[in-house]
Amino acid sequence: MTRSLCILGSTGSIGTQSLDVARLGGYTVEALTAYSDVKTLEAQIREFRPALAAMADEAAAADLKTRVADTGVRVLSGPEGVAYCAAESRADTVLNAVVGMAGLAPTLAALRAKKRLALANKETLVAGGQLVMETAKQNGVPILPVDSEHSAIFQCLQGASENRALKKLILTASGGPFFGKTAAELQNVTAADALRHPNWSMGAKITVDSATLMNKGLELIEAVWLFSVSPDDVQIVVHRESILHSAVMYDDNSVIGQLGLPDMRIPIQYALTYPERLPSPVGELDLAKLGRMTFYEPDYETFRCINLCRRAIHKGGLYPAAVNSANEQANAMFRRGEIGFLEIADRVERVLEAAPEKPAYTYEDILETDRFARETVQGG
Ligand code: NAD
Ligand code: MG
Repeated sequence: MTRSLCILGSTGSIGTQSLDVARLGGYTVEALTAYSDVKTLEAQIREFRPALAAMADEAAAADLKTRVADTGVRVLSGPEGVAYCAAESRADTVLNAVVGMAGLAPTLAALRAKKRLALANKETLVAGGQLVMETAKQNGVPILPVDSEHSAIFQCLQGASENRALKKLILTASGGPFFGKTAAELQNVTAADALRHPNWSMGAKITVDSATLMNKGLELIEAVWLFSVSPDDVQIVVHRESILHSAVMYDDNSVIGQLGLPDMRIPIQYALTYPERLPSPVGELDLAKLGRMTFYEPDYETFRCINLCRRAIHKGGLYPAAVNSANEQANAMFRRGEIGFLEIADRVERVLEAAPEKPAYTYEDILETDRFARETVQGG
């Protein structure tokens, strides 16, 4: 169980909800990091009094340093400053809530420093699954999932026997804001349309990933690494209400699911208190009030990103990293209004087809793939 925390990406959606959980649980906060939101990080430093803080953006770090000079916190800067906090703070647990590939280096730094890792940053496992899982194993530290679906599966696997007798994982998807729409109807949707998610309030990048269903593709790859399953043994089901957060089916066809209100503070807290459970700030689920739950097959033809991710993890090696970085670039370009919604999948597919084959890879290879994918997407 966690006693002290380093939160990476503390100013974001998961980061601030993690601080809610920390406040309630009375955890000591040893380090906080963010990209450039100086105001929010300053307020968090004043409330939680960490020994260390870092901002990835150099100018923001300099500004923060002046603002919090009276608090005694040591302020570091750049990606190295973030990785330093991940490895060198006195925290026993690092909660990685950074968005995107930038989370990979601090994840590896935390694992090498033998910290328990509560992982929200799914891109870390998609881009470097093999490297990350090996690093965790070599250092004998657990990776505790924060993503709600993976927390659900992790909870459903508690008490399973050694050989698990696991038949498949059932990964639920909300379907996002464009559920039921045809490709023709999606031709001209804007970032503002995509940012209106029906059930969850999240950061902009993941909200767009939920609209394209890329998020579910990334989560498929995340599940393959976290739970050592074949991608063919992961079934994706659209469940509009986001109450069943995912489930597992055992060999006897018994299905065990985890349910609750859609509030990330439940999975965040479980990652911190595991294997124990504590009272939560989140309300109770009332099934009678809910009334019904609905389930649908995903529309794979319209929402092509899921199968692009499936192809990438089947091909293995650096293909998932290529697809992840291509998506980060295309997602950002869509949010800036530079490309259309349907072009996100087109550009990701082009990168999947052009990426070089390389079954075994290093951290440097991932960075090289990242550059290649972003340039290819930008090139059109
Ligand atoms: P967000 O955009 O709200 O917050 C991202 C955080 O990362 C911010 O604190 C930001 O300052 C920091 N950051 C951004 N770029 C950085 C960089 N280059 N270096 C260092 N720090 C950087 O994002 P979010 O919605 O909180 O999502 C965070 C992660 O959690 C993502 O990987 C997302 O897929 C995952 N996740 C989020 C939710 C959710 O409900 N928001 C649910 C499941 C999983
Ligand atoms: Mg999720």
